[in-house]
Amino acid sequence: MSGSFDLHTHSNFSDGTTTPSENAALAAAEGLAGFALTDHDTIAGWEEAAAAASAHGVRFVPGLELSTELGGLGVHILGYGVDPTDAALLAECERLRDERRLRAQAMVVRLGELGIDITMAAVESHAAGAPIGRPHVAAAMVAAGAVEDLDAAFEHYIADDGPAYVSKHALSPERGVELIVAAGGVAVLAHPGVGRRHAAVNVELLDRLVEAGLAGVEADHAAHDAAARAYWRGAARRRDLFVTGSSDFHGRRKEARIGEATTAAAVVDILRGHAREKETLWW
Ligand code: AMP
Ligand code: FE
Ligand code: FE
Ligand code: ZN
Repeated sequence: MSGSFDLHTHSNFSDGTTTPSENAALAAAEGLAGFALTDHDTIAGWEEAAAAASAHGVRFVPGLELSTELGGLGVHILGYGVDPTDAALLAECERLRDERRLRAQAMVVRLGELGIDITMAAVESHAAGAPIGRPHVAAAMVAAGAVEDLDAAFEHYIADDGPAYVSKHALSPERGVELIVAAGGVAVLAHPGVGRRHAAVNVELLDRLVEAGLAGVEADHAAHDAAARAYWRGAARRRDLFVTGSSDFHGRRKEARIGEATTAAAVVDILRGHAREKETLWW
């Protein structure tokens, strides 16, 4: 197997703006060997993604991105090849989605106190049934004319250190890794060097996650600069973790395009080797 994979993309099954089929088409157009769909706290897009991948002649890696929290800051754990019927993981995803709704309501209240009037109904209409994320809140703010664009919404209000940010408190990073591993999947620490997450994600946490069963680190995330990539590659190498790369594509809600950063096929083989179920789920 040759070529490379984009191992972290979102669709409209969470806070991306493209369908899983469009992600497959984009992956094929970029000449990728394959892509993973890693929506936030849901695997609902897998079926469509797998069918579209097959139609476009690219491979599909089934994934999700679990929202965990540490000290009020988000820590994202990617899970690949989890059993889609695992009761504990599905129950936790449902709890996380419920928590996302309550948290969005709290953010709407916080924004109101800051003079930004948006309604929960507007936020929900942008999410269209998907797990509610901050990009949906940002979209409602833009639609209400409260901010110029999505970036301004984050920069001035809802970034991790913003005045209207509300954390989720739902799940510890260690427990997230354990849930993925118990569901037969492979756990990878997402974008450890992105933004304020530096404050929550460090090598002490990495050691605890390794203890919990972490297998890889997303050192080659599109938003990492050269220094962050080198730092997290080194940290991964010293712990015998494998390194993945991705765009973290969100359609028009982020600048990254599919295939902007990638993972070598050989690494995807290792990842698959770590999963309990290696055949039917994957492609
Ligand atoms: P949530 O899971 O609701 O906390 O939202 C996380 C999502 O918000 C990420 O996947 C990004 O798409 C987006 N996001 C987080 N921080 C920023 C930022 N500073 N600027 C733009 N988008 C961001
Ligand atoms: Fe996202
Ligand atoms: Fe993330
Ligand atoms: Zn993401």
